[in-house]
Amino acid sequence: MAEKIVTARHRQVCDVCHGHIEAGERCRLIRDDFWPLMVWFEHLRCPDHPAVAAEPVRPNPPRLLPAMALSH
Ligand SMILES: [Zn+2]
Repeated sequence: MAEKIVTARHRQVCDVCHGHIEAGERCRLIRDDFWPLMVWFEHLRCPDHPAVAAEPVRPNPPRLLPAMALSH
């Protein structure tokens, strides 16, 4: 396996977080030595909170009664 830092020519999908790497963004390219057509792209540093993993914000979470909370 060989890896190098490249500038993406087209939008790629990061193989680690599956987020988008935009064209012109610097990223890590990993190439298989035995199968040169196989390449993977990775962010240099994956975003901590990719949009696909974002949880919807609930402004009023239901409260457990104290008895219910203690029963577990
Ligand atoms: Zn990533």
